[in-house]
Amino acid sequence: MATQDKLYEGKAKILYATDEPDILLTVFKDDATAFNAQKRGTIAGKGEINCRMSAHLFRRLEAAGVPTHFIDCPQPHTMRVQAVRIVPIEVVVRNRAAGSLCKQTGLPLGLALEPPLVEFYYKNDALGDPLLTLDRVCVMQLATAEQVAELRQMALTINQILTAFFDQCGITLVDFKLEFGRVGDRLILADEISPDTCRLWDQAESDPDRRVMDKDRFRQDLGQVEAAYQRVLDRVLSQNT
Ligand code: UDP
Repeated sequence: MATQDKLYEGKAKILYATDEPDILLTVFKDDATAFNAQKRGTIAGKGEINCRMSAHLFRRLEAAGVPTHFIDCPQPHTMRVQAVRIVPIEVVVRNRAAGSLCKQTGLPLGLALEPPLVEFYYKNDALGDPLLTLDRVCVMQLATAEQVAELRQMALTINQILTAFFDQCGITLVDFKLEFGRVGDRLILADEISPDTCRLWDQAESDPDRRVMDKDRFRQDLGQVEAAYQRVLDRVLSQNT
């Protein structure tokens, strides 16, 4: 299977066409960006860690009945995926208050959100990925109200599965971002699920800095970024049940 044209290079991944029109290759990079690419750096080994972790979680989600774009990993930092039409909406699920939610609302860091909060952001770097309302989604013709309800339901199902899984790993799933695509009318989970796209807190640590196992270590210059990503992967891979 020879790789062909580079279709797109994003901040953390490169997408290639393959000989098969319905299959793409995603290569995960070590490059890291934050604050809409105003902060840039490299996290050694991140590409491989995020690829392996996403693959593991996609397999688990598939086994639980959630359709994903994942096919397999021909190399440690390379994933074969089904080609989809990406829905230009980033779906964020929050189990605890953190990040932009705290900044914009004043809610205290770590506040438990029950039921979980589901938010929609416009996937558009030039506009800084703004928060959407249902009415905005409809006016912008990004999706119908029915499709938004479907995105919300799938995101909540994924949250239930992932929260229970990370709990087994001794990790609190604070929040995470999902991207979806369509094949025909079918909605399927795409992109990645990794410490780049999730907030993950070590349940064995109470210190607000020491417990952080995700990209906030890079965003906030907390150090030990590679080690934290590796610890998440080790715990994820050691869970067989
Ligand atoms: N997130 C992401 N990509 C983005 C924006 C957010 O993966 O472009 C993830 C982020 O890592 C966190 C969750 O979505 O797990 C919620 O992020 P938030 O809105 O709090 O934004 P941030 O604090 O990252 O600016």
